[in-house]
Amino acid sequence: MKNKSARKQGPQTTAVHAGEHARHGANAPVDTPIVRSSTFTFPNTREMKRWAEGKSKAFIYTRYGNPTLAVAEAKIAALEGTEAAVVTASGMAAISSTLLAVLKSGDEVISTAQLYGGTYRLMRDILSDLGIQTRFVESSLEGLADCLTPHTKALYVETPTNPMLRLVDLPKAAAFAKKHGLVSIIDNTFATPVLQQPKALGYDLVVHSATKYLGGHSDLIAGAVAGSREWIARVRTMVIYLGGSMDPQAAHLLIRGMKTLGVRVERQCQNAMAVAKFLEKHPKVARVHYPGLTSHPDHKLAKKQMRGFGTMMAFDLKGGLPAASRFCDRVRLFLLAASLGGVESLVVLPIYTSHYNMSKEELQRAGVSPGTVRVSVGLEDAADLIADLQQALA
Ligand code: PLP
Repeated sequence: MKNKSARKQGPQTTAVHAGEHARHGANAPVDTPIVRSSTFTFPNTREMKRWAEGKSKAFIYTRYGNPTLAVAEAKIAALEGTEAAVVTASGMAAISSTLLAVLKSGDEVISTAQLYGGTYRLMRDILSDLGIQTRFVESSLEGLADCLTPHTKALYVETPTNPMLRLVDLPKAAAFAKKHGLVSIIDNTFATPVLQQPKALGYDLVVHSATKYLGGHSDLIAGAVAGSREWIARVRTMVIYLGGSMDPQAAHLLIRGMKTLGVRVERQCQNAMAVAKFLEKHPKVARVHYPGLTSHPDHKLAKKQMRGFGTMMAFDLKGGLPAASRFCDRVRLFLLAASLGGVESLVVLPIYTSHYNMSKEELQRAGVSPGTVRVSVGLEDAADLIADLQQALA
């Protein structure tokens, strides 16, 4: 099914059918075949020559592209409403390949200071060594114009942010990027295309840790980038040369996961709201960071630009780090594990996971305190999740 027709359908139909091969008539496999081959034959040298000249779209070698990867890519492009997408070996491969496709030595990028720790460390430690400087701005975008220099080439935002769930005003950021000729890049991992489609709001490139909601089952490491054909061709070139290509087996798991993305996110959002409301009322909890709560500073913005409030939250316990550690050590149904977006509910202390190796000042800027607990709400029954929280907090 082609993207064009799939996009006229509902998002869950798109998730199930977009990108798949024609499956009518006799003997067509309903599931997406896994093409495990690393390499592909050509009928003759004339066709190989055409490929070398860029005149043929034939598959040559899986690092360059593969029929199973192509299904995952078409599905992601359809879900994000973009012309194209490329899948990668991890979210970090997607992010690094994208940033290196957009930026070269001497360029600058403005990024939200609240950010997945890995992306922050990539900007702080790796891009800086390559001569690419990052200027960090608050998620409120206050002082954004002050970060602009003649060298600024891109604006990178994450919204909602990991782990404090702050939101960036997407139309405002996109308009700023457009006005100043910057390439706009957004990490849409936390929202998923179910809750937010940044392309429709003017974003150039959308990156994902597909390890999370797109896959949805904590059984693969994967990434994706969606955008225009032209931009994706440039990102794909980086993926090809830096080598962060996806494995076909991972692509199959990703495709399978994406088919249930809509229903998973919908139910997980309901569970998250129930969990957030419970935590907010608990006497030992100082503060809950969940955009669905009216107490959240970005609640109104969330209502405006997202179709739901997401399934991630963080909370601070009154007893700080000792109380947070005690809580994490006592959960039974929730699992103490990094990552997020799977069917299993997880808890984690960001200072020991996504935000390790950061100074006090860096943590403060990221909004993370030592006693912050991050929660990824899964697909279990809300009543069971709440019962577990209750006993762990007792
Ligand atoms: N972006 C966000 C928001 C994340 O939470 C993560 C991982 O936790 C990444 C990117 C990196 O993705 P991956 O672990 O798939 O490389």
